[in-house]
Amino acid sequence: MRIEQDLKLGFKDVLFRPKRSTLKSRSQVELTRDFTFKHSGRQWSGVPIIAANMDSVGSFEMAASLAKHGVMTAVHKHYTVADWAEFIKRSDAGVLNNVMVSTGTSDADFQKTKDIMAMTDELIFICIDIANGYSEHLVEYVERVRAEFPDKVISAGNVVTGDMVEELILAGADIVKVGIGPGSVCTTRVKTGVGYPQLSAIIECADAAHGLGGRIIGDGGCACAGDVAKAFGGGADFVMLGGMLAGHEESNGEVIENDGKMFMKFYGMSSQSAMDKHSGGVAKYRAAEGKTVLLPYRGPVENTIQDIMGGVRSTCTYVGAAKLKELTKRTTFIRVQEQENNVFGKE
Ligand code: 5GP
Repeated sequence: MRIEQDLKLGFKDVLFRPKRSTLKSRSQVELTRDFTFKHSGRQWSGVPIIAANMDSVGSFEMAASLAKHGVMTAVHKHYTVADWAEFIKRSDAGVLNNVMVSTGTSDADFQKTKDIMAMTDELIFICIDIANGYSEHLVEYVERVRAEFPDKVISAGNVVTGDMVEELILAGADIVKVGIGPGSVCTTRVKTGVGYPQLSAIIECADAAHGLGGRIIGDGGCACAGDVAKAFGGGADFVMLGGMLAGHEESNGEVIENDGKMFMKFYGMSSQSAMDKHSGGVAKYRAAEGKTVLLPYRGPVENTIQDIMGGVRSTCTYVGAAKLKELTKRTTFIRVQEQENNVFGKE
């Protein structure tokens, strides 16, 4: 047994230190980033926020709405190939290039990904997603997908340490998805005791990825726009959001009326709810590692995404970053023991 003594940090442990700035207004801040990906050589330009591939977040409807802002959606893996065909047919220019096709790591998943990608050249992102990215099986699967799709952008995860980020990039991933346990409906830390505070995971994994020309997605744990900014400040190239984009018209969750108020169901992809729906219940050998919650129904996602983008722009003006790309270079985090003043309730 070994103990690492240095303290790892989550979003709640830091704030940005403001810096002198020549920017007059947040409207001067450019959130669009241009990336050329390591293995595929593909270029992509957009706002590097991604709706999570959860079945009450990453829907086709979410993809259509967020693409208007150049924001991405990792579409969840529970749509059929026929659903994809229909979505591709009705999608205008500018949507499919902001969509990630999610997949697990079985042979059936591989075939399904091939069938979907064969339908159009406009889909360029594949998101290989398993809860425990430390499995050797993931590395082999990434190699297999890279061999099949040399010119597609491949994301793989989830992991939280630099060694595994490097291994996945060397196996063919352009992007590594980072986060174990920080999610709003995740119970991995409670059920298993495994995890890594998300800001430190991002800082350490970004460093490892960037050294090899790879990119990372900070996935999970953002509860407010300030956290999204902190993820970018820590070095995340992309930030993935589940809970912050759940509960909206486009999230496609089950709507429930209670005492005249509207709610929407939101659940972790390893929760009892998800496994009942997609896998015929929780298998005997495992425990559910996600929860199910009811969120107040929030209407269209438009206001929420504007609010998040506005918050990140404002962070940039406070630290003097004219572009999102500059935010991490302009970031000094201070460690704190206080965040919001909750005397009149929580925002
Ligand atoms: P959020 O933005 O809601 O804090 O986090 C979203 C992320 O939580 C997802 O992208 C995914 O990585 C993770 N997640 C989703 N469902 C589950 C689950 O059931 N269990 C665990 N451990 N993580 C989940």
